[in-house]
Amino acid sequence: MSPPNLALSIHADFDVPLERPQILVVDDDERMLVAVSELLRLFNYDITPANCGQDAIELLKDRSFDLVLLDLNMPGIDGFGVMEHIALHARSTPMIVMSGDTTIEAAIRALRKGVHDFVRKPYAPEDLLDTIARALADKQRSEVEREANEKIERSEKWHRYLVNQSPDILYTLDSVGRFTFLNDRAEVFLGVPNADLIGRHYTHLVHEEDLERAKYVFNERRTSKRASRDVELRLKIKPNNPISGLFITVEVSSCGIYDQHTDGAAATFRGTYGVAKEVGDRKRAQNRILHQAYHDSLTGLPNRLLFRDRLNLAVVQAKRSGALLAVMFIDLDRFKSINDNLGHAAGDQLLQAVAARLTKCLREGDTVARLGGDEFTLLLPLIGQREAAENAARKVLAVLNQPFRIGQQEYVTGASIGIALYPDDGDTGDALIQNADIAMYDVKAQGRNSYAFFSEARHASYTNRISLGHELHKAIGSNQLELYYQPQIAVDTGRISGLEVLLRWNHPSRGQLMPDEFIPLAQEAGMISYVSEWVIRTAGGQLTRWSESGLSPTRLSINLAPEQVQQHDFVAKFSELIREMNIDPDLLEIEITESTMMLDIEAAQEKLKALSDLGVKLAIDDFGMGYSSLSYLRSLPIHAIKIDRSFVADIEAGTDNTLITAMILIAKGLKLRLIAEGVETAEQLAFLKSHHCDECQGYFISKPLDTTEVTRLLASGRSPLDH
Ligand code: C2E
Ligand code: CA
Ligand code: CA
Repeated sequence: MSPPNLALSIHADFDVPLERPQILVVDDDERMLVAVSELLRLFNYDITPANCGQDAIELLKDRSFDLVLLDLNMPGIDGFGVMEHIALHARSTPMIVMSGDTTIEAAIRALRKGVHDFVRKPYAPEDLLDTIARALADKQRSEVEREANEKIERSEKWHRYLVNQSPDILYTLDSVGRFTFLNDRAEVFLGVPNADLIGRHYTHLVHEEDLERAKYVFNERRTSKRASRDVELRLKIKPNNPISGLFITVEVSSCGIYDQHTDGAAATFRGTYGVAKEVGDRKRAQNRILHQAYHDSLTGLPNRLLFRDRLNLAVVQAKRSGALLAVMFIDLDRFKSINDNLGHAAGDQLLQAVAARLTKCLREGDTVARLGGDEFTLLLPLIGQREAAENAARKVLAVLNQPFRIGQQEYVTGASIGIALYPDDGDTGDALIQNADIAMYDVKAQGRNSYAFFSEARHASYTNRISLGHELHKAIGSNQLELYYQPQIAVDTGRISGLEVLLRWNHPSRGQLMPDEFIPLAQEAGMISYVSEWVIRTAGGQLTRWSESGLSPTRLSINLAPEQVQQHDFVAKFSELIREMNIDPDLLEIEITESTMMLDIEAAQEKLKALSDLGVKLAIDDFGMGYSSLSYLRSLPIHAIKIDRSFVADIEAGTDNTLITAMILIAKGLKLRLIAEGVETAEQLAFLKSHHCDECQGYFISKPLDTTEVTRLLASGRSPLDH
């Protein structure tokens, strides 16, 4: 057979795809197979020939074809057999039957098997090409369709998902205002199944007072295409239930749905669709956040930020009007001890009570703020003269000197107040706050519970305090720190039972500074661990030196600040240090106050247990100043308690001294070693001895001694009392 006439056979609407279509040609007539294959290859089809049904099926198992051209009559597995296979395993592959068998019967049978078309043998090449092209085009079309359908299905699912997952209510109304659609969220917010609302009029949902406004959004017909303005409405929750009476506030935005006419006639209004966003919560949250940003959460007073805002505004006003303005810095005198001894809850309660009192003694237009801790500030804008500020300060002092009731007790906190005036003491808000703070600090230094105006001289003392912080840093490196040791004696024998290690700072220009003058600074500056490490190293070194010179070992008591115990790696650092210094832990006692432990009792418990496991002894310092003493004494690994010297000072000959007697009994009951500190007189010592207090410490026995003095005392082997 001659190759077909190409020009003739290229059909006009041939749409040959970019990729060469793969065609399986099956015919047992070898010549036919070659001829058809060659023809089709000429038209850029990718041809795979097979000369029996069996081969065709094998090929079909391996790969897929875009089309199968099939002879019907073949020995073995014939065309129908191949069709069956395709129907089972490759359904979407179009088949064209090419056969001399043109009976209607055969054609119908073939079509039933899913054959796409029929070409009679002998074939006209253009007929064959035409049929193949059509079959391929059909196949492609149906594939595109299938994909499109899948896409639509996916996108429908997706839209339904979006609509229902929306945090807002989405709805549509018909042209008279009845619900035609509501998303799932509506059910959640409104507490009724959507089915109950569909077909209902929107007024069923809206709060009576909001109906007027609702009309505007729900079904007003707008001719403009603009989305409506947002309107805030209250919607009834469980509208079917007349007693619920609950509402949610929503912000509704809606727009009209119109049928557009192509002939230019006015669009027909079909209804509205809209979004209702719940705003109640958001509004509340917004307000809360705003309030939080500008207020102190404990007392509800303005915070530093708001105070500064108001102050800056007041400065501008004062400048304009030529008036005075006063800023007061108020620091509570006994807050720390109350907070430390009674715990944080009590401290908070006190701060709240103070805030309430301060607020009460203000005039309209004044601002009281809490800057943090026990620091409050007051702004008196537009005052006539200095005396007005003075009067206000006196009033504040008076209210803070009234006792506060916390639990069963009454406490007086007192306050130190610094005052700075505009324009004399600063012309910006920040300068005024700072100078009021400086003046306040000076009141503290002068004995507290009073007020003072800022002055340049005070400024100098403030700068001193700052520079002391810097100097302390240097002091550690340059040998300005020194340890003193105060003997503790066993009351029954009078012999030294231990030494309390006390820190001194030999300041090059100020002379010897006592710990109360610089330990707080070290704490503020975050240097306390650094200082403490020096103390432990030095004391440890001293212990070694004493033992090397043949003195019998003596217990050393070391004071630890709360900040240190709170550090998470405190135990690790501490034990590392004593290991490094080769200090016998049995010879170490650490003194911490009750408040130190109360800060975080569980953490403290764990840490103190770890120390105690090392062999280190624990003593509660300043015992009796705390409140909840007994409850936790049992749960902590404590070895000793030190009765605060204020109780010892109260011992009076001839009275029953109930308090201290009770403390001794408590200590005995808990089997704790009891040390009385601040023993200053023979009477006190006698009393303590007669009540079986274990140990005593105080000026009557010995002042704190420097290294030389204490070494001499230890070497003498005498009691500090025999001299
Ligand atoms: P504290 O632990 O209560 O130490 C006892 C204080 O009472 C010492 O004052 C001591 O000199 C003083 N004192 C001793 N006997 C008497 C007495 O009979 N009458 C009177 N009125 N006072 C007496 P010091 O040395 O000024 O220490 C004050 C506080 O500084 C100590 O109070 C302690 O809390 C702290 N401190 C001292 N050294 C250190 C230290 O190395 N680290 C830490 N974190 N704090 C320390
Ligand atoms: Ca102590
Ligand atoms: Ca003490």
